[in-house]
Amino acid sequence: MKLSANQTWNHHVVKKGNKSLVLDKIKYNSPISRASVASQVGLNKGTVSSLVNDLLEEHLIYESGPGESSGGRRPVMLLFNENAGYSIGIDLGVNYLLGVLTDLNGNIHTEKQITFKNLSYEEIETKLFETIEFLLKSTPECPHGVIGIGVGVPGIVDKDDNILLAPNLNWRNINLKEVLEERYNVPIIIENEANAGAYGEKNFGAGKDFENVIYVSAGIGIGVGLILNGSLYKGSNGFSGELGHMTIQAEGAKCRCGNEGCWELYASEQALTRQAEKLDIPSDMQDLEGLVTLAEHGNDEVIALFEQTGDYLGIGINNIINIFNPQQVIIGNRLASSEKWLKDPLNKRVAKQALWFQQNDLQIDFSELSTRSTALGVAAFSIENFLSVSIQQKNTAQE
Ligand SMILES: [Zn+2]
Repeated sequence: MKLSANQTWNHHVVKKGNKSLVLDKIKYNSPISRASVASQVGLNKGTVSSLVNDLLEEHLIYESGPGESSGGRRPVMLLFNENAGYSIGIDLGVNYLLGVLTDLNGNIHTEKQITFKNLSYEEIETKLFETIEFLLKSTPECPHGVIGIGVGVPGIVDKDDNILLAPNLNWRNINLKEVLEERYNVPIIIENEANAGAYGEKNFGAGKDFENVIYVSAGIGIGVGLILNGSLYKGSNGFSGELGHMTIQAEGAKCRCGNEGCWELYASEQALTRQAEKLDIPSDMQDLEGLVTLAEHGNDEVIALFEQTGDYLGIGINNIINIFNPQQVIIGNRLASSEKWLKDPLNKRVAKQALWFQQNDLQIDFSELSTRSTALGVAAFSIENFLSVSIQQKNTAQE
């Protein structure tokens, strides 16, 4: 084994590792003293002091007044500076755009949502620019400014962040990352919306307590994000979770993906609104918001439609449970707003069909972040990226 080349590399990795350890310890345990950091991460006080100085210089942490002491001089406490920079997360849906500006702990500072119908790529791009620029303008003065922009899209995204296919938007081979990088000159992340949503729920929402979580994003289409053994599982090329296109009906309706009888043709917002067109209700009440209003007013036909959709959701979820044996299934995105009518038929279907041993210790929940899972998830990707890259660059500069 050649050691000479590896030694420098190892030294670099160890240093980066230690600094990340120290930052993580402070981030998740603020306020904390230098001595507590040293004893908890198992490094000597001198090493911790020098890493803490680096982090103070980078404005990623700050010092505050004295904390509790067991006697003698009270120690100065260290806190994570969540306002050192801000992250923009965008959930780009088929018929809406939701943008959030968050601090480095994922707390929402500003939010903007717009809805639309049947727009071209160029028109959506313009709406996207407007939303990003609104959020940029509302960013408070801070040392690092906006540290990145993340966009969750309802489609297949490859490892280089190219959008290969977004069937419900009619998009093919779109390099949105390059467009945004050129325009805003900050790191850009493009991610499948269900993967981002799963990550958002795992970090900030209903999925915090579990290691094996299946996030079902039920919007115009259906996407699924997989948290397996505590991490986001994206498959070998990033294409996992296209479960909206699993067949649940042989010889079923034709799907834009080329298959027939796909799950999303029966259990999504698009399925719901298509069925609603057949009901005797005003045409301006046939979208999701209108249907929710009618159901709230006790319209039996509309309630039955929601219940049918819940049942179909249960059919697909049952298949997923049999494949992954998760601890938790979270239903998120726009249809989560109809939990009231979807929940019982969904649970009934799962109880009826899932194998009994799969139902032990299984929890089915609706999103805690309401419709914000994806936007918060992509914002969190940028933050993670920023914190690790910022640390790495600083080390490289020192060596
Ligand atoms: Zn399909």
